[in-house]
Amino acid sequence: MLTQGSIERNLVEVRQRVEQAAVRSNRDPRTVRLLAVSKTQPHTCLEAAYQVGQRAFAENRVQEWLEKVAYLPNDCEWHLIGRLQTNKVKYLDSRISLIHSLDRFSLLETLNEQGERRGIIWNTLVQVNIARDSAKAGLMPEEVSDFLNSVVDYPNVHVQGFMTIGALEASPMETQGFFRQLRALRDSLYSQKWPGVDLYQLSMGMSRDFEQAIEEGATLVRVGHQIFGDRG
Ligand SMILES: *Cc1c(COP(=O)(O)O)cnc(C)c1O
Repeated sequence: MLTQGSIERNLVEVRQRVEQAAVRSNRDPRTVRLLAVSKTQPHTCLEAAYQVGQRAFAENRVQEWLEKVAYLPNDCEWHLIGRLQTNKVKYLDSRISLIHSLDRFSLLETLNEQGERRGIIWNTLVQVNIARDSAKAGLMPEEVSDFLNSVVDYPNVHVQGFMTIGALEASPMETQGFFRQLRALRDSLYSQKWPGVDLYQLSMGMSRDFEQAIEEGATLVRVGHQIFGDRG
């Protein structure tokens, strides 16, 4: 577990790298949001990041999120990453601002059903398995258009864009290629107007590759160990 000072220093450094990557690719740095991936970290580490202005956090387990959210001030913004089991949806609420891992019909159905019952519209990203990695979740790129067609029938689920995870085995150049493909997929579907769908967001890039992701158009980068140190 890192000290408050180290988390502070790491955050300052990552923020600088985010900004430099944006500037290098002729983008307004304000169009890239840094999400601090705080999974497995104790709430004290999130509080340390909060002290230096971090507000957007990403967690991957519903139970863990519920435990931590109680400790943090209520102006935090919570993102859910990682596979979401349908039987966990009932524990979510409107404090979750974005679900990054909409990756199958059954989850779409459950989210809509729970949203309808409780008066919540879920903001989501469709997770795309752009690397066609059999170990990874996500729709295949060619499935995405049909999936978005059906989102229209589920009014309590909105889609704001796409999320992907680079393949673990890929070289930096391959990874950059995957990010570029996701951006191209987004651009090819952007002009189609589906109600409840706006494909502005691209959630891609983690500690090892967030700069490449920004060069390829990421609007949300998910950085964990570069901020909080290794996960126990
Ligand atoms: C854990 C995780 C991250 C952060 O990974 P780091 O390598 O620690 O930056 C980002 N995205 C997803 C989906 C994750 O599960």
